[in-house]
Amino acid sequence: MSGGLTSASAVRVAIIGAGPIGLEAALKASRAGLDTAVYERGRTAESVRDWGHVQLFSPFGLNSSTRGREAVGSSLPGDGALLTGDEFVESYLEPLAAVVAGSAEIHERSSVVAVSRESTWKHQLVGRRREATDRFRLLIETPGGETTDSADIVLDCSGTWGNHRWIGAGGMPCPGERTLLGGEDYRIPNLEGSDRERFADQHTVVVGSGHSAATSVVALAEMATRFSSTRLTWITLAGGATPLEPVVDDPLPARAELVAAANRLAVETGSVVDWCPGCLVLGLDGQPGQLSMEVDEPGRGRRVIQAGRILGQVGFRPDRSVYEELQVQECYATAGPIRLAASLLGETSTDCLAQGGGDLATLQSPEPDFYIVGSKSYGRDARFLIRVGLEQVELVLDHVIDTHAGVTA
Ligand SMILES: Cc1cc2nc3c(=O)[nH]c(=O)nc-3n(C[C@H](O)[C@H](O)[C@H](O)COP(=O)(O)OP(=O)(O)OC[C@H]3O[C@@H](n4cnc5c(N)ncnc54)[C@H](O)[C@@H]3O)c2cc1C
Repeated sequence: MSGGLTSASAVRVAIIGAGPIGLEAALKASRAGLDTAVYERGRTAESVRDWGHVQLFSPFGLNSSTRGREAVGSSLPGDGALLTGDEFVESYLEPLAAVVAGSAEIHERSSVVAVSRESTWKHQLVGRRREATDRFRLLIETPGGETTDSADIVLDCSGTWGNHRWIGAGGMPCPGERTLLGGEDYRIPNLEGSDRERFADQHTVVVGSGHSAATSVVALAEMATRFSSTRLTWITLAGGATPLEPVVDDPLPARAELVAAANRLAVETGSVVDWCPGCLVLGLDGQPGQLSMEVDEPGRGRRVIQAGRILGQVGFRPDRSVYEELQVQECYATAGPIRLAASLLGETSTDCLAQGGGDLATLQSPEPDFYIVGSKSYGRDARFLIRVGLEQVELVLDHVIDTHAGVTA
């Protein structure tokens, strides 16, 4: 048996984050008789709510577990339904949280600041960490102040949303970026709703070449058909034939359509989109609403682009500060746990559906009983799909349940 249990009372599992993966993990853990607590910094599914106006490109059947669908009951979307984030929350994640709350604690507005062990410091038991017998200790920040909890098992399901990367050259902030851009400038704007006024008839520069950038470019180009002074510059670091590389025979048609539409807008003559491939962002100046961006572009050299808005859609990165006092071995390129990262770096497919959840060993680190599960497990690698996280939940919790059989209440 791995370390961590101090008595034969119920095994306590602390889950950080009530996103799609944290909730599914809580359902499985609590149903298995584990004493389960979920800590969520906002409301349940806070991240998904944040991009609630965006349509998922994977169908509902891939974004939910059989266990979860059975628990929620009858009025569910069809397996093939393509939901927006808001629809996913309303039709599935909220009802799922309500079911989970029947057998587990869900603490909303409770941000986990740090996790360590009660009496084993990071530098101790190097190479022998499995000998640790003390529980985990969590520091939690709530509106009412700080509190602590202890647990035998910790699953970090806190995702990467909200911890954005930078648009500046080299992936670090360019001069002016930290003062002139705020959190909302790194999100996908809701052009049909709350963000319409801010973007209509403006010149927007989109930086990035992933699906979020593609979503914004397509939506802004559509906006330009209704607000004729809307202009759009699209900056990508890579300089291939198109901004996004399509997945060959993509099994997700909605994703294929998005990629095709964005790529077409980038390359077709007379398009509203001015695509600048291979471009480096050197600096920002001005004030919100009247921004100047200095760029270095192959063939056009250094120049300044004037823009009303800038959207940095360059992806997210894991917040590793939560577990920095534990022995978690990370990949130096993606900042995901090393074994999973190594197996992902060996994958050449751009199709995340082609990836499996890995085996249990890829989710284990030197720190026994601490697991990073869900989108955070991929670090900066953006190919994560909910389906992969659902497989990870099964692998980790089957192991936990097996290992601690007979100890649960
Ligand atoms: C715009 C967009 C579209 C996407 N579309 C798809 C798609 O179509 N199909 C697909 O499979 N995947 C998609 N993804 C990728 C990914 O599957 C989703 O991001 C998914 O929400 C990840 O689930 P998660 O539970 O791992 O993390 P999250 O959904 O990010 O949930 C993490 C939760 O942890 C909370 N949290 C964070 N830090 C703390 C802390 N310190 N303490 C307590 N709580 C904390 C957050 O508030 C959040 O509620 C998309 C992602 C984005 C951004």
